[in-house]
Amino acid sequence: MNPDHPRERVSRAFAAEYGSEPAALVRAPGRVNLIGEHTDYNDGFVLPMALDRAAWIALTPRTDGIVRLHALDLEQRGVFDVATATRRDARGDPHAEHGGWLEYPRGVAWALQESGGHVLRGFDGVLASDVPRGAGLSSSAAVELAVAAAFQVSSAFAWDVADVARRMQRAENRWVGVASGIMDQLIGAAGVAHHAVLIDCRDLSTRPVPLPPECAIVVLDTATRRGLVGSAYNERRAQCEAAARALGVSALRDADGAALEAARPGLDELVYRRARHVISENRRVLEAVQALEDGDSARFGGLMDASHESLRLDFEVSSEALDAIVASARAAPGCLGARMTGAGFGGCAVALVERASLPEFLTAAAAAYRSASGREGELLVATAAAGAGRATS
Ligand code: ADP
Ligand code: MG
Repeated sequence: MNPDHPRERVSRAFAAEYGSEPAALVRAPGRVNLIGEHTDYNDGFVLPMALDRAAWIALTPRTDGIVRLHALDLEQRGVFDVATATRRDARGDPHAEHGGWLEYPRGVAWALQESGGHVLRGFDGVLASDVPRGAGLSSSAAVELAVAAAFQVSSAFAWDVADVARRMQRAENRWVGVASGIMDQLIGAAGVAHHAVLIDCRDLSTRPVPLPPECAIVVLDTATRRGLVGSAYNERRAQCEAAARALGVSALRDADGAALEAARPGLDELVYRRARHVISENRRVLEAVQALEDGDSARFGGLMDASHESLRLDFEVSSEALDAIVASARAAPGCLGARMTGAGFGGCAVALVERASLPEFLTAAAAAYRSASGREGELLVATAAAGAGRATS
């Protein structure tokens, strides 16, 4: 038992704060995307895995609609009434305290209740997470899904993975106001231990794909964060929509390389390159699944490399730090492939590494990144975990 693990921290803090043991513990994982970047909002394919890093809530249900939540990592407490989480403006709610992080739980309450949603009861809870914030590992989806799982315990509604994921995406898009695709919430809900999960972002179907036991997935945090992700993200989305319109398809998912080349003369060069990334990336995801199913880790790694080059050159969402850490990983022993992961401009990369060389890889990649960038990267050996839900003790 590690006393610093969020599971232990929330349990301890709950007892101290509420004077009793919690009735339940729930967890929801962060995620790392192995391949398929900027394809989710194009109705395409992604291949993420849920991480063994997660947001945890210790809770006891209440009979009224009040939610009391102590965010241990931020040393902040919040209170709201689910009855007032029905519109963006909750003025008049004596329990409403506005503030950054609390908008996630409030948005979850709103999204779970809206349009044919669930009748919610509140809970007393304590929240803590070991998903690093703002690193591109989706700490926000982890918090949303942990809060949803807490409401599931207090309110006993049927847990439909795709429906919950869709509602959590709405919480993030419409309540918090961050445009994002469905990937983070769906993998957080549908993760399977020791598996990546192929997600079809059009019909939200999921297919677990076993990861090669002889390889490790290493997440490499550049220790850089970019503030302008939002505007660049919206611009890329608009360019993809423009490309889809020009190609006469509802989303780039439905276009292929031949159609794109045929339409090229009429396309803005930048729009053409954005579309080329998305179309080729969708193909790479399906090839990566095939490679995993064939037990061909080297081919999987090669596709990760190609994904990074496409993101760097065609989609232009990499950064100097991401390129440096990817190069450092590729040059280290046992690396089969590496790419940036997440929206880009900072945050993390991910590498496929032969387990036999893992210690040497970690030392060499960290040292190479340090000398290339002057920064201390953080390397995390990731294990694929199960999706959100009640923790079994
Ligand atoms: P990420 O890429 O990690 O998802 P976001 O900017 O989307 O980054 O989400 C980070 C936000 O999610 C934080 O600013 C905070 O509001 C919320 N959040 C994440 N982790 C926690 C936590 N442990 N406790 C409270 N709120 C959290
Ligand atoms: Mg997020």
